[in-house]
Amino acid sequence: MKTFCGRANPTTGSMEWLEEGEDYDYHQEIARSRYADMLHDKDRNVKYYQGIRAAVSRVKERGEKAIVLDIGTGTGLLSMMAASAGADFCYAIEVFKPMANAAVKIVEKNGFSDKIKVINKHSTEVTVGPDGDMECRANILVTELFDTELIGEGALPTYEHAHKYLVQEGCEAVPHRATVYVQLVESKRMWSWKKLLPVHIEAEDGEKILVPPSEMENCPGVPSVCDIQLNQMPSSDFSTLSDVVTMFSVDFSKPVQSASTYYRVQLEPVKSGKAQIVLSWWDIDMDPLGMINCTMAPYWVKSTSALQWRDHWMQCVYFLPREEPVLQGEKLYLTACRDEYSVWYNLQKAREGENKADEEEHKADVPVESPVCRCRAHLLWNRPRFGELNDQNRTHQYIKALRKVLKTDSVCLCISDGSLLPVLAHYLGAKQVQCMHPSRIDLYHPHELWQAFLKANHLEDNIKIIEARPELLKPSHLEDKKISVLVGEPFFTTSLLPWHNLYFWYARTAVSTHLASNVTVLPQSASLHMMIVEFQDLWRIRSPCGICEGFDVRTMDDMIKDSLNFRESKEAEPHPLWEYPCKSLSDPQEVLTFDFTKAVPQHCLSTEGSVKLLRKGKSHGAVLWMEYHLAADISVSTGLMQMSNEKGNCEWNPHCKQAVYFFSSVIESEILSDPTAVTYTINFDTKTGEIAMDFKL
Ligand code: SAH
Repeated sequence: MKTFCGRANPTTGSMEWLEEGEDYDYHQEIARSRYADMLHDKDRNVKYYQGIRAAVSRVKERGEKAIVLDIGTGTGLLSMMAASAGADFCYAIEVFKPMANAAVKIVEKNGFSDKIKVINKHSTEVTVGPDGDMECRANILVTELFDTELIGEGALPTYEHAHKYLVQEGCEAVPHRATVYVQLVESKRMWSWKKLLPVHIEAEDGEKILVPPSEMENCPGVPSVCDIQLNQMPSSDFSTLSDVVTMFSVDFSKPVQSASTYYRVQLEPVKSGKAQIVLSWWDIDMDPLGMINCTMAPYWVKSTSALQWRDHWMQCVYFLPREEPVLQGEKLYLTACRDEYSVWYNLQKAREGENKADEEEHKADVPVESPVCRCRAHLLWNRPRFGELNDQNRTHQYIKALRKVLKTDSVCLCISDGSLLPVLAHYLGAKQVQCMHPSRIDLYHPHELWQAFLKANHLEDNIKIIEARPELLKPSHLEDKKISVLVGEPFFTTSLLPWHNLYFWYARTAVSTHLASNVTVLPQSASLHMMIVEFQDLWRIRSPCGICEGFDVRTMDDMIKDSLNFRESKEAEPHPLWEYPCKSLSDPQEVLTFDFTKAVPQHCLSTEGSVKLLRKGKSHGAVLWMEYHLAADISVSTGLMQMSNEKGNCEWNPHCKQAVYFFSSVIESEILSDPTAVTYTINFDTKTGEIAMDFKL
């Protein structure tokens, strides 16, 4: 049997199914999967169950047998719901082999083996007929193939195929339809994720303004969806320019077309402003009348009491190609273009005296091409990175620190991917400035991007790009000088976890022979910090579910647990905690330090200790982050920014992901004359650059 594995293709932003070798282990996929989150999504589960019951009843009322096709059965949950609702037979299709195996076990354990046939195939490979996988076409189509963008996991081609080959005409579908909603907004914060904005620098000889190259200014970016927990975006960070508008719907009970198309709505701004962003979400009606509705609408659209937290479906942020000033009441056309897997938006002003009949004319203007990054910056930097580069406060910290260490005769080398530091160093008076962008050189050509950036600012003669990796640095690259100031943010495109940016330390070690004896390294050191937290919601994604809507899914829980324990020591995972509120239960603690003035040592860096639980709550896990000590008294944190002392509410760096280590069991601490202590051991393996940790509660 073939084994397929879903992968996002970074060149197209779409999912691809790759066939993997026999010995491929899926522990990583299972441990990090969204199944637990889906099983904890009560609102979703209840509504699917209601919708499935109603569909089975409608079919039975017509006097037909209820034959269900469940595409993407996962744990088998929706098929078990159908079987309990009285369906005569269910075909449960699952492409992911470990899940198909789990579904077989779960179905058996719950006593549905005679009613549910699990088929480990992609739905497009399923055959119908006397010798086929399915004896006959189904008359109820049940699926849950949606991502935050609705169609990003391939729902449309799957439905298109299913209607052609696997279900009867006039079948019932659960969900019956999906509707995509949009709202036009202005948001300095979100717009700063799209492109580099001009950077203001107070230089020695007056204010300088750094501008992005024109290719970057006009670049449409990448088609990959920007999905976030919009409910964590405070209303002060954006301003809505339009009402909520229905953009398009898909009726899943009728043949579905996946071919590229576009949808267009007219809207009138309720307020004048700069149209920059389209916020979008969807809802699904489980029944034709729309009585059973499951919605992703954010807090300002529906009452907070109705909010169900979930991470597998969030909301989308789309960036308009250009910022467009709009006036209250003027006529605008918003166009959603889509291909099989992704959606993108365009805004146009109605022309003078235009009416409905002229609308056809606009067709010619509609962009059919999906956004493709031409400037390369969107391949090198993700959206949070743009936000970070556009953060003037942060830039100011670096300027302050550079001022302290730079002298007029400084020979400065910057090692970081696409960093503003070399430009800052130049403006602050360093004599010779060079930079290196070591990550993914072959793939993304950051040098060309950086060349264009320097050119746009007439700096190409002042800042030299070294196209060698640190270990291949030669004296000639440095005009035979020694480096007196070595700087890094540090930031590297390839980093996933906070400590992966310690690559700067390795690069520093590789260039050791080129450093002057009195070299200044900025940052001079880094430290790893740790805190025990109670999550408001994020705990759900790794927490066992047990019984889901009456079905025993513990097989799934065990499978996730095995995968989490697969490696000798469990791993931390990256999460942007500004999106996932938590309360600190301990004080933040510095656990390791990394001295960049010295080379990376041969031996591992280990620490052990204990941390006291000072507040009442559930210890779900530890959060870890890095702080960089740029110069005396100037540090930047990539994690905790602030904490309120009474309640322990935390404010996190909005541009960075922190590391989260989920505890395998949760302890509940009470108040606390003698606070409970959690003991830890943390080990930084200098050979691999990875950190392993263990906690005892
Ligand atoms: N139905 C389950 C799981 C939903 S997750 C539930 O609601 O809880 C979606 C599942 O569909 C994943 O397990 C994925 O591997 C599978 N999948 C996606 N597209 C598929 C296709 N075309 N054919 C078969 N399985 C598919």
